[in-house]
Amino acid sequence: RIDSLINLEKLAVLGHGNGGTVYKVRHRHTGSIYALKVLRFDEDAVAVRQQAAREAEILMRVDSQLIVKCHGVFHNGVGDSDCAGCDLYFVMEYMEAGSLHDVLQMHHRLPEQAISGIARRVLEGLHYLQGMQIVHRDIKPSNLLINNRGEIKIADFGVSGVMAGKLEVTHDPYMGTSAYMSPERFDPERWDGDFSDGFAGDIWSLGLVVWECHVGHYPLIGPGQKPDWATLMCAICFGGKMEMPDTASPEFRSFVWRCLEKDWKKRGTVTELLTHPFVTKWCSMDSIAAEELVDYALEG
Ligand code: ATP
Ligand code: MG
Repeated sequence: RIDSLINLEKLAVLGHGNGGTVYKVRHRHTGSIYALKVLRFDEDAVAVRQQAAREAEILMRVDSQLIVKCHGVFHNGVGDSDCAGCDLYFVMEYMEAGSLHDVLQMHHRLPEQAISGIARRVLEGLHYLQGMQIVHRDIKPSNLLINNRGEIKIADFGVSGVMAGKLEVTHDPYMGTSAYMSPERFDPERWDGDFSDGFAGDIWSLGLVVWECHVGHYPLIGPGQKPDWATLMCAICFGGKMEMPDTASPEFRSFVWRCLEKDWKKRGTVTELLTHPFVTKWCSMDSIAAEELVDYALEG
């Protein structure tokens, strides 16, 4: 556990997100490498601050090989003068190979075996989170990170809801809009008060992510196109059920079919999907898939 930012030396910028920047840093004494996520917010950005505080609280409770580890959370510029305007720092496990988004940018599509391995790891991660009553709510390629052993882990609980037995989560106005959001999250009203517990929303997102791995771009719009939110939301909430192209194997298509069930009550659950043939078919070859993934990720 890291107890101060003073000894962290910035080496490089790893990426930028909506809320801030992620740096590669080295601990001066131990030489260990970490990722430092810096979230900036304005004086009056109470909502963002609350969201960040929530992220911190969740991260502290999570301890799994399936989830990117958080080694410390710090407030406002502790000992770091060139970051005076920053407000919240997360010292995270460094994931050498970057995100699944980065991998897809370079390689555009992945073989089914690797995608099956990704699906399994993410499902296992979601299973762990469910055990802690945590809904992730922002499963997307840039939040799935890969280390140099080819292990994929879930990161970024910025919009997670810790369930308190009821559905405070669906109505959070600060959860942001994501193209990976499920129909019941886009349009909670439509469900007549019969709110989802939120877990099903993570499954929906996973369905889109694995599909994206197969075609190499966000699947519901053409490659390189920016989402037109109104049209996209309409397609997700009111359009017909979406189906993968038949370049995918029948097992793969059936897996995505179960994930993209519009009615969350009928959608595949984590436990069901962990035993789905698409996930189990390559099981014994998992390490090969992981090696392949890391080759893809690191060769650049
Ligand atoms: P959004 O803000 O919409 O969630 P994002 O997930 O891309 O987008 P960040 O979470 O800030 O934004 O991450 C930015 C990038 O930094 C990621 O896409 C990834 O490439 C890199 N990154 C984040 N965390 C780590 C980490 N622990 N190890 C290595 N690289 C990381
Ligand atoms: Mg992220």
